[in-house]
Amino acid sequence: MEKKELIGLSKSEIEEEILKLGEKKFRSKQLWQWLYFRGETDFAKMTNFSKELREKLAENFTITRPKIVAEQLSKDKTRKWLLEFKDGERVEMVYIPEEDRGAVCISTQVGCAVGCKFCHTGSQKLTRNLTAGEIVSQFMVARDTYGEWPSPTNEVRYLSNIVVMGMGEPLHNQDNVIKALNILTDGDGIAISRRRVTMSTSGIAPKIVETLKATGVRLAVSLHAPNNEIRSQIMPINNRYPIEEVLKACQEYQAEDGSRYITFEYLLLDGINDSLENANELIRLMKKYHIRASFNLIPFNPWPGCCFKPSPSQKVKAFADALEKAGFAAPVRVARGQDILAACGQLKSKKDSEQ
Ligand code: SF4
Repeated sequence: MEKKELIGLSKSEIEEEILKLGEKKFRSKQLWQWLYFRGETDFAKMTNFSKELREKLAENFTITRPKIVAEQLSKDKTRKWLLEFKDGERVEMVYIPEEDRGAVCISTQVGCAVGCKFCHTGSQKLTRNLTAGEIVSQFMVARDTYGEWPSPTNEVRYLSNIVVMGMGEPLHNQDNVIKALNILTDGDGIAISRRRVTMSTSGIAPKIVETLKATGVRLAVSLHAPNNEIRSQIMPINNRYPIEEVLKACQEYQAEDGSRYITFEYLLLDGINDSLENANELIRLMKKYHIRASFNLIPFNPWPGCCFKPSPSQKVKAFADALEKAGFAAPVRVARGQDILAACGQLKSKKDSEQ
């Protein structure tokens, strides 16, 4: 019989497995802590279990991390991993350090079906969804790499935030993403605060509110345009879920809790969406829907074979100034890890020749 993978099981599923082994319920809590609080991968080292239980666990279960196929460190300390799962499928994960903290950007699918025109990942067709365990275990690899599992000597937490912005559209893999986010934020385990987790969507409107209610994480929306005409041109998904529907879902989400700001990602593409007129239209749109928004202005990172050009810096500045004058925070994101193609929209796990 094939052994069952433990990483990715919820608390209640672990409890079920422990009870099936004829063990007492409290053992499931201990096992959860070994897996997700200590990051242990070897049953033999689970010292508060009897030898018999350790053997039973090893006979029935596995604790797997994806294989690190390649690892690159950028000049600015951004790190990119190419990870491989059991079936040979691969995704990329990125760590973006700040001074005293940092965000791990994780993937939710192999490839992506949304097909945003500016996105390198989008040029790689969807192969499959990741399981909850495959989503969670990416972050566990980052903790392994940086030695951030709790120990008496280890108090610093550089891997403080998670952004679900890697390969894939999270809401096209909703169940696994919800399960994974609840494991990553569970206070008895990995315990990343829900407020420090941001899920970014291309705007799958009907699933936004439900997913945020089920996870309590923050929302980022890839907007990238002030109207349907431009948005449909660069994000074909807009034909299915137009701006109005996406913003209505955002309104509904904010109605639940007034303190939640939504971050709108806005990639500046030369001559496409970066004029002052575009900025003013965007402001009118936010005011019309009464959305408490902040913007993340992203200078475009060209990738091989892409047809867009980055906006010149004076246009980026004018765009940001217009939004800020209207009362919206609109920082221009400094591109990170550009030398290793780890910047936003550049992730890709297959060579062009493999597609
Ligand atoms: S930007 Fe996100 S949703 Fe769009 S194609 Fe790329 S990975 Fe998919």
